[in-house]
Amino acid sequence: MSLSYLRRLMDKESTEIVQNLLASPQKIVIVGHKNPDGDAVGSCLGLSFLLNSLGHTAQVIMPNDFPDFLKWLPGVEGVIVHEKEVEKSSALIKDADLIFTLDFNSLDRVGELEQVLKESAAKFIMIDHHQQPADYAVATFSNVSMSSTAEMIFHFMEALGHKDKLNKDIAVNLYLGILTDTGSFRYAATSPTTHRVAAQLLEAGAESASIQQSVYDTNSPDRMKLLGVALNNLNILFDYKTAYITLTQKELDDHNFKRGDTEGFVNYALSIKGIVFAAIFIENAKENIVKISFRSKGTFSVNDFARNHYEGGGHTNAAGGKSSQSLNKTISEFISILPRYKDELAHAI
Ligand code: 5GP
Ligand code: MN
Repeated sequence: MSLSYLRRLMDKESTEIVQNLLASPQKIVIVGHKNPDGDAVGSCLGLSFLLNSLGHTAQVIMPNDFPDFLKWLPGVEGVIVHEKEVEKSSALIKDADLIFTLDFNSLDRVGELEQVLKESAAKFIMIDHHQQPADYAVATFSNVSMSSTAEMIFHFMEALGHKDKLNKDIAVNLYLGILTDTGSFRYAATSPTTHRVAAQLLEAGAESASIQQSVYDTNSPDRMKLLGVALNNLNILFDYKTAYITLTQKELDDHNFKRGDTEGFVNYALSIKGIVFAAIFIENAKENIVKISFRSKGTFSVNDFARNHYEGGGHTNAAGGKSSQSLNKTISEFISILPRYKDELAHAI
């Protein structure tokens, strides 16, 4: 990749700041967002292999646990889950020189970890592809046109002049991040550059078929039955080109719900011909909220929708949020909001 092209992808000033910060061995913590997805885990682990190979001490910390379909990734056994090891994780964060925050851009995305991060004297570096980044880092790499944070880690590595450090461990993690965040190279943010990066990751030892099997062909029978329930609960509002799914806590319990089981369900609602806006509402009795995922096609911004109504955010075509009302109330409110968006929904594609 040419240097000028790379400079456009990776801000030069921020790159120089990071180069100076990394000039001597540093104690580094790498943090992903709450309810970590493939991109969060893959990009954090990929970056940790790079930083450790450069002589730093890098530790990945996740706010809470992540799905089993990610638990085979190289390096995953070293991840500290804050919720499970509060003291150890807090001590590492307190003691860190540098903290990389990956795949999120606002400190309220890490749950209980937020306070611990705020109390740390470490310098923050953000690498992320979500919209409207907050201003907490000494170096902010924020690019909403990127397919994934994992793709950005690849560019970051190249911008720092360390592409020679690319190895199989890094390649597998970054490929996984790109794969899961692009819906297997389907979504609009998948660029020619994304494919070029993926090709280099394959050349460095990532095996696409086996990675995809580990991610997509490891469903439990319970998860498949829960998908059946979700599809049965599908509602379609053709007037608003909208489809939504609900899942109650009981339905989750009846199918021994495990973290990650509902990932991707919302896409079935979006896959219906003529639908441009899809949502899934999932009751969470423990947190006393309804967690919501939004997806859209074309110009309809679910980032705006989630920010305006559900204390959330994300990307134009994929976002999330929450409601503290009951599931029924949440749904009736959702339906009552839609008329305001009728024109936008009608012209989304
Ligand atoms: P998902 O629906 O898969 O959980 O998330 C879709 C996208 O929206 C992801 O990029 C995720 O980071 C973002 N997202 C999900 N939930 C929230 C939320 O509560 N707040 C914000 N700001 N972003 C969210
Ligand atoms: Mn991401």
